[in-house]
Amino acid sequence: MRVRRRATALALVLLSAAPARPQAVKNQPPLAANHYDLLPLTSIRPRGWLERQLRVQADGLSGHLDEFWPDVGPTSGWLGGKGESWERGPYFLDGLVPLAFLLNDQHLIGKARRFVDWTITHQRADGSIGPEKNRDWWPNMIMLKALTQYQEATGDERVIPLMRRYFAFQLRTMASQPLKEWAVFRWGDEVLTVLWLYNRTGDTSLLDLARKLHDQGHDWRRQFAKFEFTAKVTKPQISLATHVVNNAMALKTEAEWWLVSHDANDRAAAERQIEEMDRYHLLPNGVHSGDEHYAGKNPSQGTELCAVVEGMFSVENLLAILGDPALGDRLEKMAYNPLPGTFSADMWAHQYDQQTNQVLCTLRQRNWTNNGPESNLFGLEPNFGCCTSNFHQGWPKFVASLWMATEDDGLAAVAYGPSEVHAKVSGHPVSLLEETEYPFRDRIRLTVDIEKSLAFPLALRIPSWAEEAVVTVNGQRAAGVRPGAFFRIQRMWQKGDTVELIFPMKLRVSRWYHEAVAIDRGPLVYSLKIGEEWKKLRDKAPAADWEVYPATPWNYGLALDPSHPEKSIAVLEKPVGDHPFSADGAPVELVTKGRRIPEWQLVNGSAAPPPQSPVHSGEFEESLTLIPYGSAKLRITEFPLLKN
Ligand SMILES: [Zn+2]
Repeated sequence: MRVRRRATALALVLLSAAPARPQAVKNQPPLAANHYDLLPLTSIRPRGWLERQLRVQADGLSGHLDEFWPDVGPTSGWLGGKGESWERGPYFLDGLVPLAFLLNDQHLIGKARRFVDWTITHQRADGSIGPEKNRDWWPNMIMLKALTQYQEATGDERVIPLMRRYFAFQLRTMASQPLKEWAVFRWGDEVLTVLWLYNRTGDTSLLDLARKLHDQGHDWRRQFAKFEFTAKVTKPQISLATHVVNNAMALKTEAEWWLVSHDANDRAAAERQIEEMDRYHLLPNGVHSGDEHYAGKNPSQGTELCAVVEGMFSVENLLAILGDPALGDRLEKMAYNPLPGTFSADMWAHQYDQQTNQVLCTLRQRNWTNNGPESNLFGLEPNFGCCTSNFHQGWPKFVASLWMATEDDGLAAVAYGPSEVHAKVSGHPVSLLEETEYPFRDRIRLTVDIEKSLAFPLALRIPSWAEEAVVTVNGQRAAGVRPGAFFRIQRMWQKGDTVELIFPMKLRVSRWYHEAVAIDRGPLVYSLKIGEEWKKLRDKAPAADWEVYPATPWNYGLALDPSHPEKSIAVLEKPVGDHPFSADGAPVELVTKGRRIPEWQLVNGSAAPPPQSPVHSGEFEESLTLIPYGSAKLRITEFPLLKN
């Protein structure tokens, strides 16, 4: 009897430990269909260096912020305290939930659950949520995003009823209490959760709410139909419409709205918005400038960290809706360059504004549009604490978006990184293991784990830069692989089948400000490795604020043939260690030659704009080392090209 009982108990334990493998939830009519559907949180797990990176994050500010930063600590209004009661608690939770569940870290899950439980148990009779003193729709929009992730990870049955009551309250109240300020520009973030709930309930009043949000929200389509802000904005031009974070968040908004409106012009508006932003404000690290308003293409202007993580979240959703493989290239560029590039290697310090050419990080007023003197320090809350509470979502949501469901019940690899995915395909459990040191190496190996043979499509994004990409299935080379497209394999899969991908990482040169050159290899852009002298400015135990001074010169031009960079650049591979995003731990080095350009100096604490290329230099030639942008906390990324 005792033995049998134990056996039953063991079986139950095994059952509950098995991955739940929920299916992707598709858009319900009358919504237009997504091209791909995001998989529920925890379908994808990080592995290899990416898992270590999430662990670095959890061991840094993300896992400890609530212990010493009051705005997300026990006095937070979102825990019933009298302190900060606006966006910071929800921001923190929006990244803590996916971080905690992707790592399956029970301690962090417990921290997240406190915010969730307080919010759920303190919903008021009228349906409103959050701290009593908050009367702004905006922070609730973030909390809803966090709650949907929590529901996907746990199946908590309280979340959907809470959301239904809240949205009914908002629908009743919006006429007398319309969107204001930030919420006007960020309405797309609420449409996301409104549609999430509609797809799970079929409640058509939610589509009325989506229409009201659109009607009260900023018209992004009109802003980009005739885009006025084609350079760094002046102080009088500043408004919430020119704010870099609002713009990063809005990259997804018109495409989401197209799901409701079915107006092809809305869908086209999303594409136009990216084109216009790229034309006037894109930097070679893959993000737009904004410090913290549109800042043009000078590589000494900055990009606010919130715009990096919100931009990534937008592109993840845009990629699901539109299925454009170029968005996968863009997402990897953002995740693997400006995201790590703006943190210390241990993720205990971050910047507010990062620079593409960043040669001195000190307390000083620089030529930002409107930011203050702390903006490029590495610290706890330099300039303003929004990024401190909001950055946590960057890495975990990226991991959660590596794989998506195809419309015909298969799986798509939309971005690459070491991971495993557990999903259901035609009702059957399917797992895929992705082993790779991408983006530091060019090889990826996928192994299929299924119980019995099963036919399903596998869509693999071939990056646009991966000329001569090779795909092999069980050692057999596949035909018809083209860069800049999804390559689909439709076959009967067996347990243990392998797919190997080789994405040759040819060196590439692109042209930027004043015809300066940037060097790319795969999804990484490379920057001059500059000696870094970290000087503690203030202790904020257990965190600190740091200045970073250059210990070696930075004003180099490169000597290379832009159409054949491989002739003058040697590639050195090093092990991918625990901190790949540090100057000493850089897993790849490019060795090339250049000369100093003596007239290229600092202007107001930043590198002057690179002098117009080509540039003459009479200095002697030196060997230079370039490392990934994310590893270089001081860097030159846009180099003048030398006259030969
Ligand atoms: Zn911020």
